[in-house]
Amino acid sequence: MTDLTHEIKRRRTFAIISHPDAGKTTLTEKLLLFSGAIQIAGSVKARKASRHATSDWMEIEKQRGISVASSVMQMEYRDCVINLLDTPGHQDFSEDTYRVLTAVDAALMVVDAANGVEEQTLRLLKVCRSRNTPILTFVNKMDREVKEPLDLLDEIERTLGMSLVPMTWPVGMGKLFRGVMDVQNDRMRVFRAGADRVDDADEVVEGLHSDTLAERFGAEYDKAMEELGLLQDATPPLDRQEFLDGKQSPLFFGSAVNNFGVREVLDALVQLAPPPGARVAQEREVQPVEPKFSGVVFKVQANMDPAHRDRIAFVRVSSGEFSRGMKLKVTRSGKEIRPQTVVTFMSQRRELVEQAVAGDIIGIPNHGTLQLGDTLTEGEALNFTGLPFFAPESFRAVEIKDPLRSKQLRQGLQQLGEEGAIQVFRPHAGGSLLLGAIGQLQFEVVLHRLKSEYGVEARLENTRFQLARWITCDDDAVLQKFIETEAFRVAWDVVDAPAFMAAHHSELQLAMERAPQIRFHAMREHG
Ligand code: GDP
Repeated sequence: MTDLTHEIKRRRTFAIISHPDAGKTTLTEKLLLFSGAIQIAGSVKARKASRHATSDWMEIEKQRGISVASSVMQMEYRDCVINLLDTPGHQDFSEDTYRVLTAVDAALMVVDAANGVEEQTLRLLKVCRSRNTPILTFVNKMDREVKEPLDLLDEIERTLGMSLVPMTWPVGMGKLFRGVMDVQNDRMRVFRAGADRVDDADEVVEGLHSDTLAERFGAEYDKAMEELGLLQDATPPLDRQEFLDGKQSPLFFGSAVNNFGVREVLDALVQLAPPPGARVAQEREVQPVEPKFSGVVFKVQANMDPAHRDRIAFVRVSSGEFSRGMKLKVTRSGKEIRPQTVVTFMSQRRELVEQAVAGDIIGIPNHGTLQLGDTLTEGEALNFTGLPFFAPESFRAVEIKDPLRSKQLRQGLQQLGEEGAIQVFRPHAGGSLLLGAIGQLQFEVVLHRLKSEYGVEARLENTRFQLARWITCDDDAVLQKFIETEAFRVAWDVVDAPAFMAAHHSELQLAMERAPQIRFHAMREHG
């Protein structure tokens, strides 16, 4: 194995998906603590704290730096380099969150044991499922009175549409939480509360069929053993290939805040989760271990200094190795760039800083040369596919206070649209531009940024539109005719893809029936 292949094979790139308050921040911190990257743990907290002040825009500006720093966290654990990508999942939930999932090789789903699978998790899961991303499941907060584990398992399996294979199983819950049985290694890890332990001082009792355990933990032990017996009859053992294909998910129980059951998850990430895999470009499939660099921009974020309009393009390295000062070509524009200052998202281990290989994420500061979905290579004309744009779920019309600044408005919206901060639609029949968002906060952020970065005071008005579907057709003439007939319900997005806009599902339904040749898409894939 060459050094490069070795480096790539030890990468594990994943994201945590969860509903707000399930324990993502807490778990992230514990993972960082375990791997020794404690410094970064502070910034995870800081970012979280910033979420409570979302109405304070100055705060948001200040926090942008932190959010760039904590959007990718790298840590070393055992022989692996783990890249953990943050999925903004709170009030600032937006399309970015979805797109981050296209840059990972696995996902860790955190479920609050009292609530089961919640809405936001479900939306993210759908993206993982559509890409067959392997998913590990961590059921958190077992130190509280929660749902029965068998019921939870059943519920998660149903919503996930994949089978769960318990790697650990809880003994008791709430005040009577005794620990978890490690099914694979036939031993029990005994629960001890405590937030900041990273040592391995947990008591571990070998042999689950032990009289001492039965005596010590009585009814909880008996119940857990009985449940495990039932499960072992009903569920097949973990099959790594099934897991990699996104059909089976290994299941863990624990309590993140008590740092309990977390190490098992980290071990599984290293042992089970896959190294970087092949990536699909229009032209061909690209293998991670190819010596030449290639990568794709999956997220663009405005940087600290709004006056300079600099942005950071987050690039997932798809193949080869990136080194500073390297000459890269943007396939879309044909432009060459030679990034000198690159943001690397590294742990405090100095020796890693200069190297980024397939599976890693790099941040390239730029002023608009890099757009969402762009492919970067050492020269080969490749276009990676699969970056999703989702049909927005709410719309506003933009009105400008000073008509003399409409050029700035258009320019600002074009750039914010390219960045993916918001979706911008230009109605076919003319009139105000329409903004489409997934999360409400996106509208507020855009208004604020229009003002501070482009000097445009805009106002948002309600529109009758509630949904949009991108439209395509095998026959161009049919599509053109549809667009003309539906001129008042068609709008063009930032890359000039046409979309049908409707106020209700019934309106959409009717259009679909009337124009059977037209295809309506809730998602547009870049490339
Ligand atoms: P996030 O919104 O998903 O990032 O969730 P946080 O990590 O901020 O956790 C939300 C709340 O749940 C916080 O008050 C945590 O202290 C608490 N929490 C996290 N893990 C546990 C746990 O294992 N047990 C209990 N009882 N509370 C927890």
